[in-house]
Amino acid sequence: MSDSLLALEAQRAELLRQLTSVGDFRRGSITPTFGKCGKPNCHCAQPGDQGHGPNLRLTVRVKGKTVTETFPAPADLRKAQQEVTAFHHFQDLCQQLIAVNEKICRARPVEDTLSPQEKKRPKRSSGKSRTK
Ligand SMILES: [Zn+2]
Repeated sequence: MSDSLLALEAQRAELLRQLTSVGDFRRGSITPTFGKCGKPNCHCAQPGDQGHGPNLRLTVRVKGKTVTETFPAPADLRKAQQEVTAFHHFQDLCQQLIAVNEKICRARPVEDTLSPQEKKRPKRSSGKSRTK
């Protein structure tokens, strides 16, 4: 086994360890919205006024539809923000894990897993074989 393969496997073990400590996470993004209260004498009734806000809400696309969640209290919002941040961390770790696994696949030497029967009858039906 080469040193680089060992190093890659150590990286993968570290990523897997980090994945187990991500904690609660959820998809979506937290975006500000501005609303109008509807009172005619309020500033939000003026043309060009952005309205009241920002009110932060969580939006997430589920099967092509955007689902919105609002938060009753700042503590709920903070919790959701942390969960969304954790999801981004999770995704980042997954991308790294995929990348390191692909490197491992390329670095891993081929083991002789063919049975004697398979060696007798090599399959040539599946296109051209590429040899390095
Ligand atoms: Zn208003």
